Amino acid sequence: MKIVRNPVVSVIISVIILFTLYYSLSSTSSLSEPKPIAPSTKSNELIKDDKEIVNTPFMPKMANETIKAELGRSSWKLFHTILARYPVTPTENERETLDQFIQLFAKIYPCGDCAQHFNKLLDEFPPQTSSRSIASVWGCDIHNKVNKRLNKPLYDCAHIIEDYDCGCGEDEENAKKEAFEIEKEGKQSGG
Ligand code: FAD
Repeated sequence: MKIVRNPVVSVIISVIILFTLYYSLSSTSSLSEPKPIAPSTKSNELIKDDKEIVNTPFMPKMANETIKAELGRSSWKLFHTILARYPVTPTENERETLDQFIQLFAKIYPCGDCAQHFNKLLDEFPPQTSSRSIASVWGCDIHNKVNKRLNKPLYDCAHIIEDYDCGCGEDEENAKKEAFEIEKEGKQSGG
């Protein structure tokens, strides 16, 4: 084997060997020490880069019809109340958060057969998140699509925000109705 005699080349080789040793040691120690999770600045960082989330519902079929109906009523109550309290003018992050919540809700809904249908509905009618009134009416409409499939009466969505009273006091209630009226007028005048 030929020995390198040039001192510059020797220094370069030593530096390379030292760096290689340093990096291999530091990557081994990171295996035993969990890395701290950096706080998210964007809501879509909720889904971590290197992990794929399940893209189809995975809960088992729910055979007990009484439990299925009870679960449905409670879930719809939560669903519509979230939409009725959603910001009048949401930020991009808030929109993304609502969208992710609805998508995950559809994947993990505990009645697997319901989740399968609901997930397909979301593909066809994706969540509308641009404002409180738009999100609430979208939610009412998607519930009506489920009602229709189950041969249940359809709900009148015209007063959906008022119907899901959040219990947050008169002032906020009035502000909420006002915001809804302003938005409705804007739409009627083509704005
Ligand atoms: P629900 O439909 O539970 O409604 C509860 C109350 O909400 C009603 O009494 C009414 O006051 C109000 N309401 C009704 N329609 C609307 C609307 N459009 N907007 C706002 N409020 C409204 N059950 C199945 O058997 N098969 C399924 O595939 C299935 N899929 C489901 C998917 C999801 C995402 C959810 C949350 C539930 C699902 N269910 C399913 C349950 C089903 O929708 C009902 O919740 C259940 O049958 C009980 O019905 P209900 O008549 O008491 O009224």
